[in-house]
Amino acid sequence: MAEAGDKTLPECVAVVLLAPLPRPLTYLVPAQLRGQLVLGHRVRVPLGSRSAVGIVIEQLDSTAIAAIVNAGAKLKAVAELLDKDPVVDNDLLTFVRRASTYYLFPFGLALKTALPAGLASITAAPKVKQTTVYTRAEGTISLRGTRQKEVLAYIEQAEKQGEKQGGVELAELCQQFPSPYSVLSRLEELGLIKSCQREKQRDPFLGIVVTADSELQLNEEQDAALNSICSATTQDKFSPFLLHGVTGSGKTEIYLQAIKAVVAANRQALVLVPEIALTPQLVGRFRARFEGQQIRIGVLHSGLSVAERYDMWRAIMRDEIHIVIGARSAVFAPLAHLGIIVVDEEHDSSYKQSEGFRYHGRDLALMRGQMAQVPVVLGSATPALASWQRAQQGLLTQLSLLNRVGARTLPSVELVDMTGAEVETGLSQQLRDAIAATLERHEQCLLLLNRRGYAPYLLCGDCGASYRCPNCEITLTWHRQAGQLRCHYCDYTQPPSEVCPRCGGVAMEPEGMGTERLAAELQQMFPAARIARMDRDATSAKGSQQNIFNRMENREIDILVGTQMVAKGHDFAGVTLVGVVDADAALNFPDFRSAERSFALLAQVAGRAGRGEVEGRVLVQTYASDNPVLECAMEHDYIRFAEQELPLRQLLYYPPFGYLVNLLLSGLDQQAVEHSAELLATNLQGEIGNGKVGNGDAGVEVLGPAPCPLFRLRNRYRMQILLKAQTRPPLRQLLAQMAQWQKLIDKNVALVVDVDPVDMM
Ligand code: ADP
Ligand code: ZN
Repeated sequence: MAEAGDKTLPECVAVVLLAPLPRPLTYLVPAQLRGQLVLGHRVRVPLGSRSAVGIVIEQLDSTAIAAIVNAGAKLKAVAELLDKDPVVDNDLLTFVRRASTYYLFPFGLALKTALPAGLASITAAPKVKQTTVYTRAEGTISLRGTRQKEVLAYIEQAEKQGEKQGGVELAELCQQFPSPYSVLSRLEELGLIKSCQREKQRDPFLGIVVTADSELQLNEEQDAALNSICSATTQDKFSPFLLHGVTGSGKTEIYLQAIKAVVAANRQALVLVPEIALTPQLVGRFRARFEGQQIRIGVLHSGLSVAERYDMWRAIMRDEIHIVIGARSAVFAPLAHLGIIVVDEEHDSSYKQSEGFRYHGRDLALMRGQMAQVPVVLGSATPALASWQRAQQGLLTQLSLLNRVGARTLPSVELVDMTGAEVETGLSQQLRDAIAATLERHEQCLLLLNRRGYAPYLLCGDCGASYRCPNCEITLTWHRQAGQLRCHYCDYTQPPSEVCPRCGGVAMEPEGMGTERLAAELQQMFPAARIARMDRDATSAKGSQQNIFNRMENREIDILVGTQMVAKGHDFAGVTLVGVVDADAALNFPDFRSAERSFALLAQVAGRAGRGEVEGRVLVQTYASDNPVLECAMEHDYIRFAEQELPLRQLLYYPPFGYLVNLLLSGLDQQAVEHSAELLATNLQGEIGNGKVGNGDAGVEVLGPAPCPLFRLRNRYRMQILLKAQTRPPLRQLLAQMAQWQKLIDKNVALVVDVDPVDMM
């Protein structure tokens, strides 16, 4: 038998290509790379006649290599090592592999999603700028020149406070001392300082400055919660928590203090937030607490360039970052010494990726926490019912903060019944009066209308026709400012014509109300008020989001109108009135989670009122004032909502009482899509009918095929088959057969497997 390291045998590695392949491939290590490749290295390899990028996941042992040699297999050789250092470690690879198995998604593509974009292409990694850095050298000569002394003292001082890397960048010295070049070269000649080239570290905080704050004295509820979390962090075991705390109850303070303890114990923290652009305040609070204490915070946000993302990834790999804050993809951050994971606003549906690798950030955080044996804290004022149910079953430890911090009370919520009300421009008399009174007191209003654009339709007054998207089964939304009709799904735009597209009439009128129209009409009603809008259109320019936040904070805005963006976790002390213009829109959404989403949205937006010293008020306009969901929201009563909603879910075995997998088929040819869906469903049914995966309660229910609610989207026809089961194993068993049915599907029809689907439109 061949010995390990046997020189007569070639060296071989297993490589996962960042491509949709079912398994890793084996490559020879060429002579010039012998002994150099280790797990996690990124390599370029030949694939057919082309090149591909892959990650080395294993060095084959001599037995395996001998077997390959004996079988006479012809292997290709690795073409190039792309980066000096590995880009992932073994734990992260194992995590991504497990995640890919769970979501029935190819490992290589899952890995591609997990890695920063710059690493997926064949070209060498994105260029990182170099800069000159000065550090103190051994020399002890005493200096006479004051300038020399000053510069040297500055470098010494900086090193003392120093971060791990140490040294002062040339740019910083140039800011402190005008033209320090000659002084620096003299000091270097004298052996007092050394210079070296280092990667330039860009400011991830875009120049935003925060002032330091200090730890708050916790109240009793907070203290109890923190103690539970902290005792878990010292135990090196997986402990999942559900931190249920009403808005403003001080959850963030608990995260801060728990993380402080973790970092003090030389471990790292991972903080997931739904959308980083919407949570500048959270990032600010982390910085205010930790910056300047030799604790480095890494923020992963969509504003980073490819090179910056790559930078951040490598800084984390080098162990230079103590706290990573980011949106769902940060769950893959390469933290080797993880000590805690926090998932803030864990109920938020943006944790679920809606295309490609359809993972759920919160669920993967739990998986990662389990693998790393660390606590995972899921925080929310309105937990996902799935998390709530898990806590009821004892699978998550529940921690509750039932009161707002200090003497602040939750705002009172009043329903405004719109039936028969005289509604001018979508606002009831009550809401208009309340806005007027708020403006009078120089306080701020927040109005939620979850629909952007000016109006959802331009409608012909003569024949009732409206404009439709040529690519989707959707009407086009009228954006008056832009002078365009737009599809909110595929971004198709067209100018409106003068006349009705159907009857040629000239009576095209905007119908319904979007944020743009609401803002315009409020301006007419309150000419002196300073009104701003926050939705995807108004915040597309870089920095515009931050600008709105700043103006809100500085009280330069009186009324902020926006979509669900305004409901997310920021804290404006001046807001005392929140108005929900149309509470019914979300309730009437055709989805089994619509009640859950509505409740969360209402509770979250209501939580924006009265965060300062003055009490808040919330007005909710509805045509369904007896809806039990609204009643619970009125009372800020999550528990009652959960108790009311869960039995309804249980009745139909919907999550969390059952498990769903959605099979989505789509293609340009309607018949091919429908035919493939039928064939697939019939085969799935057959498999179940044969008793192979259990029947009845123990089995899988096949629902459909049915056209998706959005049957045509971006020119593609879409059908879905929903698989439902009370336990996971039979679903897994059924889906394990998928590969054999893949052949039944027309080659022009795409099949997507969505495990634990969230969006089924
Ligand atoms: P949540 O994250 O639950 O919405 P926050 O952590 O943002 O709540 O807390 C709400 C407000 O109360 C913040 O302004 C915070 O600084 C303040 N706060 C939190 N905990 C305390 C405390 N123990 N004592 C005083 N103020 C606190
Ligand atoms: Zn469209």
